[in-house]
Parts: sequence; C-alpha cells; structure tokens
Amino acid sequence: MILAALPTRKPGTGNPVTIERRSLQQTFENAFHREPEVLSEAPGRVNLIGEHTDYNEGFVLPIAIDRTVAVAAAPGAGRTVRAYSVDFDARDEWRIDAPRRTGREWRDYVRAVAWALLDAGYELRGVDLAIAGDVPPGSGLSSSAALEIAVAGALCSVADISVQPERLALICQKAENQFVGVQSGVMDQLAAACSRAGHALLIDCRSLDRDFVALPGEIVIIVVDSKVPRRLGETPYNQRREECAAAAQELGVSSLREAAIGDIEGLREPLKRRARHVVSENQRVLEAVDALRSRNLARLGELMYESHASLRDGFGVSTPELDLLVELASRTTGVFGARLTGAGFGGCTVNLVERDAVAGFEAGVVERDRERTGSPATMLICKAVDGLRIYSLG
Ligand code: ADP
Ligand code: MG
Repeated sequence: MILAALPTRKPGTGNPVTIERRSLQQTFENAFHREPEVLSEAPGRVNLIGEHTDYNEGFVLPIAIDRTVAVAAAPGAGRTVRAYSVDFDARDEWRIDAPRRTGREWRDYVRAVAWALLDAGYELRGVDLAIAGDVPPGSGLSSSAALEIAVAGALCSVADISVQPERLALICQKAENQFVGVQSGVMDQLAAACSRAGHALLIDCRSLDRDFVALPGEIVIIVVDSKVPRRLGETPYNQRREECAAAAQELGVSSLREAAIGDIEGLREPLKRRARHVVSENQRVLEAVDALRSRNLARLGELMYESHASLRDGFGVSTPELDLLVELASRTTGVFGARLTGAGFGGCTVNLVERDAVAGFEAGVVERDRERTGSPATMLICKAVDGLRIYSLG
C-alpha cells in the first residue's frame, strides 16, 4: 500500500509525538465509521537562523520540532474526499478531481494539496481524512506546512503514489502559494518533509541542496511564543518580498543571493536596508553552521543576536514584545543566543540554552516578561525530530 520513497514505519517506532495516535484513530472511526489504514505525520519547525532569506534564494537553518500535524486516512468511496478537522470540529466534502477554494480556514489547505498534486500530474483517489495537530497556528512554527505535508503524505499513500519528500515539499509550496494565496518560501515545506532527528537542516534555497547539521547534546532549543498573533495575509510580508525583488532588479541580479554587501550601497532606502539584511543574513547562516560544527556555541549565539538586530533595524519585522523577549534572554545566565524566528510581526523567539539552565531561562525570560508586561508568553522546549513520517496501520 505504501511506497518505498516515503519513510514507512510501524506505529510506535518513530519519534514520540504529543498527539495521541490512538485517539486520532478513534476520532477517525467515530467520524467515518470505519478504520483508518494510514497515519501521516509532519512536524512544525523553528528556524534557528536565516530569516527572510528563503524567498531570496539564500540559506536557512530550520529544525523540525516535536509539534506535529497528524492525518489518519483510508481510501474513500469513489471520487469523494471527506475530511474532518479535530481542532476545528468541522467537516468538508468535495470531489477529488475538482478541488475549489472555499475561503474558509483549514479546508483550503487540504484542497490546495490535492489541487497541486493533480496539477503535477498525479492521479488521486477518493479518501477519508481525520486531521489533528498541536503546532500552534500563526506563531511562526509553520503549522500550515506541517498540515500540507501530512495531507500530501496521506493522499499519496492511499493512492499508491511514490513521491520523494523533496518533490512533495515543492508541490505543497505551490499549493500554499497559488491555491491558498500565501507567498511563502520553500523552507517550511522542506523542513516538514525532509528533516532528520537530532539535526538542523541547512537548505540552499537556490539549488535546494541540503545538509544535516548535528545539534550538540549540551544545548536545548527553546521557543517562546509571544502570543502576538501573526497573519501573513495582513502583514507587510508580501511587501517585504516585493522590496527584495525590487532591490534585486535595481542591482541587475536574479535574486539577492547574487548580491554582495559592497553592491548595495547605491540602492535607495528602504531597499538598501532590506538588501543589507538579506545579504548579511546569508553570511550569518553559513557562519552559524561552522559554529555548530565546531561546537562554538558562543559564536552561534552572537550570530543569533546579530540576526535579531538586523531583522529589527534593517528588515523592520520585529515587535516590542519580541525585542523584550530577546533582551531578557540576553541577560539570562546559560543563554547563548536568541532571536525572533519566522516571518516576524509577532510569533516566537528561538533561544539557544544550556541544557541545565532551563529553569533559569523560565524565570529570567518568561516569568520576568510576565511581571513586566503582563504578557501571556509561553515557552516550549523543542526536540529535533524527523520530517514526514508515514505509518501503515493494521
Ligand atoms: P503558521 O505560521 O502556523 O504556518 P499560517 O497562517 O501559515 O500560520 O497557517 C495557519 C493555518 O493552518 C490555520 O489557520 C489553519 O487553517 C491551518 N492549520 C494549522 N494547523 C491546523 C490543524 N491542526 N488543523 C487544521 N488546520 C490547521
Ligand atoms: Mg504558514
């Protein structure tokens, strides 16, 4: 049933996930009065460094985290797709041959994936899907890509389609860009599809070349969610993309990846500041990989703070809440580095913390933030997990 190109495992042998598999199977049975045959899971991700570089064909360094969107599935009757979202407690039903936009929350992501797979020439079949996740949506941890990749894994499995995870990522990026209408870069889907446990994933977004970078055991990655909601459609995200494209055009290069720091002096503002961020951030990612490989965590931390300052002052995507969280982290013992992560305009910070300094981090950052501002920020200690996992049930 499930094909070799996708990693297939028996349940219970992969990464621990916080979603109860058994309860999702039970939910599927309650919703469709039959048993699921396949479980497809994809993780959210936190980007360690390399922000707003992906759509500029640059470098990024995401880590897939132990927050997941899971899809239980079984081949359906005829050409009908029936989908049930546990988290929205809502259903959807449509014909697999003609996915149309609904304009309504989660439904379009599922339909988008089917649309993009059909567009890529794959023959899909009817399917029943039950979907549940614990990636906090809209926080910059890429719940949308986790959803897309998990749905893609489920649709391919039930239709006996073999697709390499990298190709699946590109198909899901097209789904999000062209069907949902969010111009996200390819990092999120590649991280959700292709990551390896215990590693960060260096991606060259121009060539799509990837490399795994081992994470030292003595550190933990802590995400702090500022709880300032971020909706990309309503933020200047698309404007930043346009500014980067305009800067590249003025420089006569195909993307800012091709620009050197010395080239950008002649640009007008704000294009110069935007370009300076992108060009310097690419350099920081490569330095961060070197620092990780040589276990120079102090240097890695410095690069994270520099990245934050560049996003704040040059790229203009931070918020006072994120700035305060980073500042508190910088004054807390056992923290190597911190920065905003994701597109910005709210969402989360990522923090590189000594393993035995977690309690001090909570007191020095999360609790102090709460005392000073009444902020509802929460923290999440992340484990680096594998990308897309498909399990055959039964
Ligand atoms: P993010 O930064 O988390 O990717 P987006 O705005 O891109 O934020 O995507 C969030 C959207 O993805 C949600 O509004 C919802 O439509 C969909 N989504 C995320 N997680 C789930 C889930 N567990 N179940 C259903 N839909 C989900
Ligand atoms: Mg998203």
